[in-house]
Amino acid sequence: HIYLDNAATTPMAPAVVEAMTNQMQNDFGNASSSHWFGRTAHTELDAARKTIAQSINAKPDDIIFTSGATEANNTAIKTVAHAMASKGKHIITTAIEHPSVLESMKALEREGFNVTYLPVSETGELELADFDAALDDDTILVSVMMGNNEVGSRLPIKAIGERLVDHQALFHTDATQTYGFYYIDVDALHVDFLSTSAHKINGPKGVGFLYRRPGYKLLPFMNGGEQEKKRRAGTENIAGIVGMAKAVSLLTPEVKAKHQADFYGFKQQLLKQLDDAGIDYALNGSLKPDNPNHVLNMWLKGLSTYALQTNLDLAGFAISGGSACTAGSLEPSHVLIAMFGKDSPRIGESIRVSFGTYTTAEEVQAFGVALIKIANRLHARAKK
Ligand code: PMP
Repeated sequence: HIYLDNAATTPMAPAVVEAMTNQMQNDFGNASSSHWFGRTAHTELDAARKTIAQSINAKPDDIIFTSGATEANNTAIKTVAHAMASKGKHIITTAIEHPSVLESMKALEREGFNVTYLPVSETGELELADFDAALDDDTILVSVMMGNNEVGSRLPIKAIGERLVDHQALFHTDATQTYGFYYIDVDALHVDFLSTSAHKINGPKGVGFLYRRPGYKLLPFMNGGEQEKKRRAGTENIAGIVGMAKAVSLLTPEVKAKHQADFYGFKQQLLKQLDDAGIDYALNGSLKPDNPNHVLNMWLKGLSTYALQTNLDLAGFAISGGSACTAGSLEPSHVLIAMFGKDSPRIGESIRVSFGTYTTAEEVQAFGVALIKIANRLHARAKK
């Protein structure tokens, strides 16, 4: 079986498993305990926080460990909206965010906040003019993802951050799909909050973090003990956090550069294979050499997502019909709808392929061969 669904989740790196095993077997203490076991766990927590902070040019104190990006997104969006409610009721986001952002927005709308969902182009990109038109004196929060999980488009985080420097609105970005591949400097981007999850970067599931800009007093989303300086209660998932830090330490600038070159190469290689075989397809998104996103989303004209996905699965290739969160249900992709409208045939005829650390050119080649065979077979069957 060949795994080409790295946007859904990634396999854990062997070094991550090793670090976590060691942590669980030897250093099981509660980081809040004052005895040796507790102090050892606390030391590991501090070391992990330092590694992670450095990865985005932040200070350790500005990293809050969470159960993943879903919790980090919920925390940032809901607590900031509540804290800022006396200054305004308007929030800006995009139509293509992850459900953990969109559903948080809907919850805030039910409380009386007004949310603008910015539209995107047919390549899944944002027009800054739309952002400028939406921003007003009542805006208190802006949440825009760094890169999209379904089509791989890159959003203009730096340009938005710069526009908000002298504005009261706080700026949150969901970096879950980009953290492993982009060079991120929270100061240079002018972001106030950033969310991510470890399992997208060869780390474990159920752990992630929220960055919050220095000095901002984050209200707790989880109430309870005094962990994370009262910003997130609950005994820390130390094995997970240690695993996340190990995964982060593997992502050196050299590794990121290699990923960028590899992923762009894989995308070109696969599309050339399809072109050479005369397959009728179109990209949902765009192919840009400087976009290190690992996602390739394609419309295979006249072929159903369901048929493609199940036939590829039978042939031993794991891809997705959209995001993992929507693929299991029959919900059409809100991202493709935002790009092409709800009546576009692309909605039911597209697949997402996403590469990862362990993807090889041979695997991509084999996938291309299988996809061509399946596409031709399905077309022939449709003609009968
Ligand atoms: N945001 C984005 C862009 C994602 O792709 C995901 C994972 N699909 C999440 C948030 C949520 O991550 P988790 O399920 O690990 O909380």
